[in-house]
This record gives sequence, structure tokens and C-alpha cells, in this order.
Amino acid sequence: MARTVTKEQIRAFAQAQGLDLVGFANIERFKDAPKRMHPSSIFPECRTVIAVARRILRGNWRGIEEGTYWPTYTYFGYHGLLNSFFIPMGVYETACFIEDHGFEAVPYYPGVPETQPPDAPIRPGTVAPEVHFSIRMIATCAGLGEPGWAKVFLTRKFGPRVRLAAILTDLEVEPDPLVEPGSICDRCMSCVRGCQANAIPHRNEGRTIKVQIEDKVYEWGDVQMGRCTLGYHGGDPQVSPFLHQSLPGWEFDVTTQNVTEDRGYKLCWPLSQGSWRRTAEDPSGHLVDGHWQLVHWGGGAGAGSYGIGGSRGCMRSCFDHLEKKQACEQTFENGRFIKRDRWLLSKRCGDTPGGDDQADQADNA
Ligand code: SF4
Repeated sequence: MARTVTKEQIRAFAQAQGLDLVGFANIERFKDAPKRMHPSSIFPECRTVIAVARRILRGNWRGIEEGTYWPTYTYFGYHGLLNSFFIPMGVYETACFIEDHGFEAVPYYPGVPETQPPDAPIRPGTVAPEVHFSIRMIATCAGLGEPGWAKVFLTRKFGPRVRLAAILTDLEVEPDPLVEPGSICDRCMSCVRGCQANAIPHRNEGRTIKVQIEDKVYEWGDVQMGRCTLGYHGGDPQVSPFLHQSLPGWEFDVTTQNVTEDRGYKLCWPLSQGSWRRTAEDPSGHLVDGHWQLVHWGGGAGAGSYGIGGSRGCMRSCFDHLEKKQACEQTFENGRFIKRDRWLLSKRCGDTPGGDDQADQADNA
């Protein structure tokens, strides 16, 4: 007798492993995906793509919002443990569960399509290696939520407070329904006002990206990803007190840059992880010691990455707004997340702080 397992059994098992949200897409929903971003390019027999999400704790951001403590966000809520341990454990156990029922399962850790090298295919008739999906499109196809205006993925339960991963399998199941476009993101523009890097266009600018899945069209702002990367990964003095400590006198205005995402990484990562000689002026020898400490937080291999900007607009402003509107299901007894005037530092390192961001304080949309 043929072995089988239902999607509700898989969902229940995955949730028991700590994965908060689990959705199912049939492979047909990817018919318009670029070949080098298509699930079938990794697993040609794939019939179902399972998207999973685990929440980012609201409290992971508390120290950054208050301007007092950075490690919790990077270590627990970003790459340190959430992306590299909490989620992969659940994904791997769920893939084992599927294979125990006789179906092949490919666990997938989200990559970055923009980093694909310009190589030739290894096997004739296939795409070049380094296939990467758009994990947000995977989650959209699996009905977990929708891309918000700021390109960050929004769910009904947690708003933008999730990280995503996927499992490909040759098991065929009924797909989950797609979320209605615009049913979570209300185009309030809180993300635009909160993004200190000026990376998110206002809806009045009309710069958008659209993707159609079945009969639904999802649309979001065409985010300037170089500014986003610089603002998040430690290239923006406005949100990094560590740049002010290590590079007094250096001035950099992220808000006017027009570099690509990958060039943003090229600037931020060597600056944040590199070393030079140890001197009396700079005893650690690290180019930016605070960034280096975050990358290595936790000992051993360390956090492996770092998130200095802490998604000030696209996540913090967004979930503050959605919670206030009761547009996401998880709300908190202590009221709104943003409780005090928000802070921003000067674009010139070492100058006195820029003070409160008045434009952002009045955000009661
Ligand atoms: S803050 Fe969130 S809900 Fe408001 S426009 Fe931006 S993504 Fe949409």
C-alpha cells in the first residue's frame, strides 16, 4: 500500500518543532518565476513548496529602540540563533518527518538571488549553480502573508516580525489559499517615515514592483536596496554608535547613495569585520570594534552576521502601526512598541547626537 501523509499532519508536526507558521504552495504557482530562482531548478520532481516562518520576538528590538543594547537583536533575532539554529532545527526535523513517510524533502535556507555569480550551467539543459529563491515569494505562494510596501513580508499574526525558510518535496497536497493583496499592508507609509536611510519610496512617487500569482497581483515599493543594506549592516552613522566610537570625524550620508545591494554589502562587511594594526588610538585593531564584537557574539563561530540598523522603518515602525490598528493578531499588554521619542545620531561621526527624529515621532497613522 502506498505511503502518504497529509498536509495537516505536516503542519502540526512542524509547529510542534517551534515553527510558528506553515503554508503549502503547489509548484504551478511558480510558473512565471525566473529559472534560476525556481524550486524545480533544485528539485525537478518538486510538487509542493512548504514555507515556514518563525517569529522574531518583539523584545529582540527593545535595546536598539531604546539606543542602549544591540546584541539581543543580532544574536537571538537575526542571524545568530534564529536564522542559524532555531529555524533550521524545525525545518530539518520536518524534512525528516516527510522522508519518514516516503517522500523526498529538501530543506532550504534562504539565500540572496542578487549574489548569484555569472557562471555557466554545469549540466546541459539546467541553470547555473547557486539557485536562490525569493523567500518572500515562496511564502506568498504558500499563503503565509503578503509583501508589504517596504518589501518586508507581512503575516496576519506577527505583522513583519518573522523570518522565513522552506522545504521542497515531491509529495502532492492541496495548496493553501493565497492572501488577498493589500489585506495586511494598508499603505500607511509609516515604514517610509521610519527608514532613516531613505530607502523606501513614498507611494506618491509611483515606483513599484508587481508580481502576479494566479489571479492576484502583489505590489510593493521599489526599495533602494543599496541604501537599505548600508543602513542595516553598519554603514550609516545615524544608527551606529559604533561608527562614532571608531571613526570620529568621518561623515557619510546614506540617504543620497545610489549603489546596488551587493555594493552596499561590499562597503559594509569589510568595514565591519576587518582589522588594521593596533595603535594607542585604536587598541583593538578592528576597523569598527563594536560591529566586530556583534559579528562574533556568542563565541565559537559567533553570530555570523550583524544587524546594526535593526530595521527601523520597515519592521519597527510597521509592527508598531499594525499593532496599534489591531491589524496583526499578536498584540501586547504594555501597549505600543514605540513608547518614547526615537533617536538618531549625526551623519558625521563624533558630532553630538542629531537628537530626536521629529518627523517620525508624530507617526500616529
Ligand atoms: S508600515 Fe507596514 S503596513 Fe504601513 S505601508 Fe509600510 S509595510 Fe505597509
